[in-house]
Amino acid sequence: MTDLLAVEEAQRVLLDSASPLGTEVEALAACVGRVIGQDLRSAIDVPPFANSAMDGFALRANDTNVAAGTVTLRVIGGIRAGSVQLLHVGTGDAVRIMTGAPIPPGADTVVPFEDTTTDDDSVTVPSHVPTGACIRPAGLDVKAGALVLEAGARLSSAQIAVAASIGADRLSVFRRPRVAILATGDELAEVGQPLQPGQIYNSNAYGLHAAVTLLGAEPQVLKPAHDDRQAIRDTLQGLEGIDLVISSGGVSVGDHDYIRLVVEELGSIDFWRIRMRPGKPLMVGSLKRSDGTRLRMLGLPGNPTSTMVTFHVFARPLILRMMGAREVMPSSVRAVTENDLDNRGGRDTYFRVVLDLSSGQPRARLSGGQDSSMLLTLARATGLARVRAEIEHVQAGDVVDVFPVA
Ligand code: AMP
Ligand code: MG
Repeated sequence: MTDLLAVEEAQRVLLDSASPLGTEVEALAACVGRVIGQDLRSAIDVPPFANSAMDGFALRANDTNVAAGTVTLRVIGGIRAGSVQLLHVGTGDAVRIMTGAPIPPGADTVVPFEDTTTDDDSVTVPSHVPTGACIRPAGLDVKAGALVLEAGARLSSAQIAVAASIGADRLSVFRRPRVAILATGDELAEVGQPLQPGQIYNSNAYGLHAAVTLLGAEPQVLKPAHDDRQAIRDTLQGLEGIDLVISSGGVSVGDHDYIRLVVEELGSIDFWRIRMRPGKPLMVGSLKRSDGTRLRMLGLPGNPTSTMVTFHVFARPLILRMMGAREVMPSSVRAVTENDLDNRGGRDTYFRVVLDLSSGQPRARLSGGQDSSMLLTLARATGLARVRAEIEHVQAGDVVDVFPVA
């Protein structure tokens, strides 16, 4: 099988040919899952002012430096979060203070309620309270000028929150690639419709739509095409405003597999057939746009698990690169396999497994049958265990690389 291209070589060629789309400015709330286009620095300290970490009493630490076990101070007022206090804490004074409220001038420490006893207008606190206790100084979290988010980060909910904490209302983010999804096959029926003899439901369009959505790109599902050269040609010629085309099916050696023929007519094929299982017939090519530029196209095989696994291995890093992400390759965990894994045939094989991360050593067990037409075992899987082409057999108890999948 020397004519098959190695997975990593194919990934490299594909990624080398791709670059991030341009950036645009978006409202902060719309940026989750997007990739930030430039470094974000803070113009302010967070918190902006010293404030109390506890509900308690603000006072002068020096007042507690007495021989006795406790000291009683005069309570001159209270400060709540958000208040602009004018109270000055003098010698022998204490102020009731709530969490997040600004530390009043004169005070340099806070004693939590739990450590005090109160009586009318006085409070008794322990002696020798350290200076600065229970005070969050200005800039404890973020200092003015500090780097908060680095260009190329896919924004998590916590990163959106930290951007808000420095007052950013908009961010520069990379444009979301618009991904056209084309399922091909005479046998395809739309969900919600009764199946006619010989038909199956078009699951690939839904799986790909979901996968593209989860990545943060913008799917556009096209009307499925029959196994008809002209129909496929018409669809692929009529695309506008698309950054990437992903098709499923019709890319193998069947009598009615027209994807490769049409791509050769409308553009060119970079490579076809990869040393992997499932997913060998994958095609990578491009279509020529009317303005002369090239529109990247991935022709994924039609078997449902082949479609989803080749999406994970090739389309995912490609889309992330187009989205401007710094990290595009999936991370893996080293897990002990609970099954023997047979890998004769000289291909990188991706086994569907359930990952168990509940104990110190991750474990992986097959989620069921591994035929590439079987989708349920992929739906049950939480990871893909990769066994490289050179390794013919993995024994239960051996360690394998597992890529978690969502
Ligand atoms: P193909 O790659 O077109 O030869 O298809 C391989 C297998 O995948 C066949 O059994 C097809 O019926 C099935 N298949 C192709 N496209 C889809 C689809 N969109 N949804 C579900 N199964 C499909
Ligand atoms: Mg087909």
